[in-house]
Amino acid sequence: MTDTSIFTRILNGEIPAEIIGETDRLFALRDIAPQAPVHLLVVPKSAEYRDVTELAAGDPALLAEMIAFAGTLAKEHTEDGDFRLVFNTGANAGQTVFHVHAHVLAGGLTEKSVG
Ligand code: 5GP
Repeated sequence: MTDTSIFTRILNGEIPAEIIGETDRLFALRDIAPQAPVHLLVVPKSAEYRDVTELAAGDPALLAEMIAFAGTLAKEHTEDGDFRLVFNTGANAGQTVFHVHAHVLAGGLTEKSVG
């Protein structure tokens, strides 16, 4: 058994995935179970932070990099560049992988999920 996160295993090439981009500290892949016409995940290469609150406290610059990279990817993968950014935080909010990641949801979303 190992507690290595699924994203670390993908990054290490142990599990196949469609990696669509990277920066020095981040990589991006398509979600295996898309919830929108475009559903990407932006993930720090380091598994140091479990969720976005830990990341915000420990490395706010990396959180800002995640948001900027999400915007770059949305421009590349949609016609309008519009996107929704979701951080599921905690099991009761639907988080299943405890290696912080942002969901980038895009491609003609017209219904608000909140508000
Ligand atoms: P969470 O539920 O933690 O917010 O998001 C984890 C996401 O990772 C889910 O949307 C799930 O579909 C995605 N996921 C889980 N395992 C894999 C995998 O092996 N490959 C890819 N590409 N996505 C995965």
